[in-house]
Amino acid sequence: MSGPAETPVPSGDRTNLLDFDLAGLEALAVTLGHKPFHGRNLFKWMHKHGVTDFEAMTDLAKPLRQALAAGFEVRAPRVVLEQPSLDGTVKWVMELADGQHIETVYIPEDHRDTVCISSQVGCALACTFCSTARQGFNRNLTVGEIVGQVWHASRYLGRAPSNIVLMGMGEPLANFEAVVKALAILRDDLAYMVSKHRLTLSTSGLVPNIYRLAEVSDVALAVSLHAPDNALRDQLVPINRKYPLEELLPACRAYLGADPRRRITWEYVMLAGVNDSLAQAKALIRLLEGTPSKVNLIPFNPFPGSGLATSAPGQVDAFRERLMRSGLFTMTRKTRGEEIAAACGQLVGRVEDRTRRVVRFEPRTGAGAP
Ligand code: SAH
Repeated sequence: MSGPAETPVPSGDRTNLLDFDLAGLEALAVTLGHKPFHGRNLFKWMHKHGVTDFEAMTDLAKPLRQALAAGFEVRAPRVVLEQPSLDGTVKWVMELADGQHIETVYIPEDHRDTVCISSQVGCALACTFCSTARQGFNRNLTVGEIVGQVWHASRYLGRAPSNIVLMGMGEPLANFEAVVKALAILRDDLAYMVSKHRLTLSTSGLVPNIYRLAEVSDVALAVSLHAPDNALRDQLVPINRKYPLEELLPACRAYLGADPRRRITWEYVMLAGVNDSLAQAKALIRLLEGTPSKVNLIPFNPFPGSGLATSAPGQVDAFRERLMRSGLFTMTRKTRGEEIAAACGQLVGRVEDRTRRVVRFEPRTGAGAP
């Protein structure tokens, strides 16, 4: 296993094999005049063993190795900054072939290690409490750019991470095709072998694509809820105006299907004086009644100019107690990597704010929200 120094340098003019799923590589092997199993072997070399040099892929036919060397490469995003935090969290800023930047975070814990990956450069959704929203939307990541983040983390760790969350920059369900292909690669036994229970897609609630996802995948679903009613959610998560709670909740229940062991994880960022009252806890309990749920309370991670403050720890505890008392399983997420701006909602790449948009939260004015 190699370290960051050996991350391949992007060349941009060859076809990136990280963009191919297993079936795609099998088809490619056939196109190049070989048996499909060579495609499987290639898949395993790249993802399981992290090998980028075709000559080292000893069980591929020599003419195939030559054909690959002539027109293809294994190109993960290039790490341009590796920032370790005091708590063991590591943030990587990665540069893509076109010079744009994304961020990936590695979070070690006692019995698991989680890699938090990005799905887009920037984000179009304009959630008021999220710093990625400030940079506006630049573009979707390719399959290879999504998987390449885990490829890199696996080289760093010397093995695949146990858990992966699509909670970095971007809205994964707005980059549907690439994300679904990437999920399949991350799950594959020949690649990263991450269990469906340990692979979590987090969405702001793109309702039609929650239904579409249910048809092709059964990974764990986390939904950024953040408010117990439409009036407040319209402001905090503006996509709620398009897909309000009365559409979101049924889509989430449909996603779970009939399996009694599955639950939706509701993410709820704790904002002082905005969404953290006990009356709002009660409203949340009523909202989630009948939907198999767990709630993840996230202390708000501040960033310059947000105009928002995190709830006092006592308030978070009281809110959690109230939910627990009603039987709602509730966890408070530990903030990790705060001093390196690696915590939830602090990922911005190193891209200029192209929109110069100033998004400030104005409590309950409705019309003033972006
Ligand atoms: N677009 C997806 C995934 C990216 S955000 C989504 O909305 O779910 C991952 C999680 O971090 C979301 O729950 C998001 O609401 C939360 N988050 C964003 N900004 C935050 C901040 N400043 N502090 C704490 N959590 C934040």
